[in-house]
Amino acid sequence: MFKALGVGEETCRAIEEKGFKKPTPIQEKAIPPLLEGKDLVGQAQTGTGKTAAFGIPIVEKTEVEKRVVQALILVPTRELAFQVAKEIKDLGKYRGVKVFAVYGGKPVRKQIELLQKIRPHVVVGTPGRVKDLLERGVLKLDNLSTFVLDEADRMLDMGFIDDIKFIYGKTPAQKQTLLFSATLPDEIKEVINRILKEDREEVYIEPQKPTVETVSQKIYRVDNENLLKTFLEKLEEIPFGKAIVFTQTKVEADRLAKHLRSLGFKTAPLHGDYSQSRREAVLRDFRRGRINLLVATDVASRGIDIGDLEVVFNFRLPQDAESYVHRIGRTGRAGRKGIAVSFSPVSDDDRFIRIRKLVGNSFEFVNLSEKPLLKGLLKGRKKKSYKR
Ligand code: AMP
Repeated sequence: MFKALGVGEETCRAIEEKGFKKPTPIQEKAIPPLLEGKDLVGQAQTGTGKTAAFGIPIVEKTEVEKRVVQALILVPTRELAFQVAKEIKDLGKYRGVKVFAVYGGKPVRKQIELLQKIRPHVVVGTPGRVKDLLERGVLKLDNLSTFVLDEADRMLDMGFIDDIKFIYGKTPAQKQTLLFSATLPDEIKEVINRILKEDREEVYIEPQKPTVETVSQKIYRVDNENLLKTFLEKLEEIPFGKAIVFTQTKVEADRLAKHLRSLGFKTAPLHGDYSQSRREAVLRDFRRGRINLLVATDVASRGIDIGDLEVVFNFRLPQDAESYVHRIGRTGRAGRKGIAVSFSPVSDDDRFIRIRKLVGNSFEFVNLSEKPLLKGLLKGRKKKSYKR
């Protein structure tokens, strides 16, 4: 099926090994024009297969005998840099495409050494570190043929615009430019008009709705003092191969992981206080199944992709409703079914209301508390849809 889009044999073999049976909609729409060399705007979120949508053409177009950087992909976070690099490395393995990820949080000297040793065709990086390497003269973009801005809206939100401008200024005039973004505010449209060719291809993929279609959700309302007890009961009841538990704070993640370990769970905490190398080690252990229950703060809720994650637990509901969608979207990816089980202590009724506003009645609600629901909780909602 990828062959019909113009993808060569070696890359098709790598795609097959990754287990992709057929192209996702964004791949179907983006791969042919990208192979033709067109610029492209893709409005799509993670989970749509957008990485392979640009990764496959990049791999295909790499001139492997030329050991110079031919494609640069800018991403907002280290986790994403690591993940995107891994995916392109997988896709390019039979063509011999060398890929390298650069990001802050790792000693720059070590990265320079590796960069010079690997001599990659493709560099994936966060804007700050890429700029740094350009300024040091160790990264050269004179032979660049493809420039990708991934998650452009998030990069702008994170204040990377000046770094991006600097980097763009170092790229040759003749090149293919790709921009992916989940949203297209005016600021992004301006960037598009400024740096992409007029005859660009534009691909819009409907935002994924992990909440309704691919994740079955359950929310337990509990008395505050019963939170831990109910959580542990459900953790025992629900079978899973791999699961994440989201906590509100780093301290809570550490404490809960310690407690779960004492109960015999194969678990580890993951949050922003840990060094990059420790976070990577934890994620590696999780991918390989050495641990199967990750206790994480929201640091892990965006971008991270664990294909066989079956259950997301929210030890407590997150403060903002969008985080809820991001968290539960870690499961139910790429056509699989996922389960999200959340616990809402009575004191968090307000959070529950906000989440319900955003996701509608896409979840099953189980009220285990005798306490009256917060005023207004039932407003605008038919009583009968609650399980009491
Ligand atoms: P992305 O949107 O790039 O974050 O991709 C989401 C997930 O879907 C990743 O685990 C990819 O490896 C996977 N994926 C990408 N393309 C396909 C495909 N054609 N078939 C099945 N899975 C895919």
